[in-house]
Amino acid sequence: MNFYILTLFPQMFESPFSSGIFKRAIERQLVRVSIHNIRDYTHDKHHTVDDYPYGGGAGMVLKPEPIFEVVESVKSGISLNQEDDVLPVILLTPQGHSFSQQIAHELSRYRHVILICGHYEGVDERVREHLVTDEISIGDYVLSGGELAAMVVVDAVVRLLPGVLGSEASLLDDSHTAGLLEYPQYTRPVEYRNWSVPEVLLSGNHAQIAKWRREQAILRTLKRRPDLLDKANLCLEERQIVERLKDSLS
Ligand code: SAH
Repeated sequence: MNFYILTLFPQMFESPFSSGIFKRAIERQLVRVSIHNIRDYTHDKHHTVDDYPYGGGAGMVLKPEPIFEVVESVKSGISLNQEDDVLPVILLTPQGHSFSQQIAHELSRYRHVILICGHYEGVDERVREHLVTDEISIGDYVLSGGELAAMVVVDAVVRLLPGVLGSEASLLDDSHTAGLLEYPQYTRPVEYRNWSVPEVLLSGNHAQIAKWRREQAILRTLKRRPDLLDKANLCLEERQIVERLKDSLS
């Protein structure tokens, strides 16, 4: 999978992709991240990328021309297969769709994704209107630039790609994958400062362990994020358990 990140601050991307899971995925050519400096697509002596907002007001707005040109240049270097019907061109913005595990899954199916990082007060509206195919927000707060948001998106997508994590099975239980938060995890030692690992996990009884984990995931989601449960994939019996637990919690 190929990510093309368009930014005014390419140096911000130097370390995040150079360690751990990322480094391995890049070395094994499962993913490629190329960084493009928007400033390289200016034509004036001062390499101007921003300007005052029409109508007045504080801050600077990113000009449309360099952003259109960098996207067109990146696109011209990509040869799309028949199965790549669209090439997502995504603007990171606090006004976009809320990023979620589901969107991460959707993006992981593309071979190429272009991410545009805004800065200052944001980007000229014509970029939204005529260039991007989607807008993503990583949460209801305002960052100073889209770089950290782009890293969040790339990170969440890359760990879903086949072969990137050691075990694909571990993805299935991840929080938000099946609409539930993950059950509690323990590792050695079995006893630490008098706090023990739940007995059932040591039993070797896989059916019991699976049942306990499922219950814990439901209970935990109910306590912390009841909003998720409505959409979670629960069987009838589990729904009834949820209703009973809700009553006992209220
Ligand atoms: N004035 C703009 C915010 C600009 S913040 C507004 O009110 O909508 C500057 C840049 O940071 C944005 O262009 C965007 O690329 C990035 N950014 C800020 N918050 C973000 C968020 N929650 N998610 C994704 N990108 C964000």
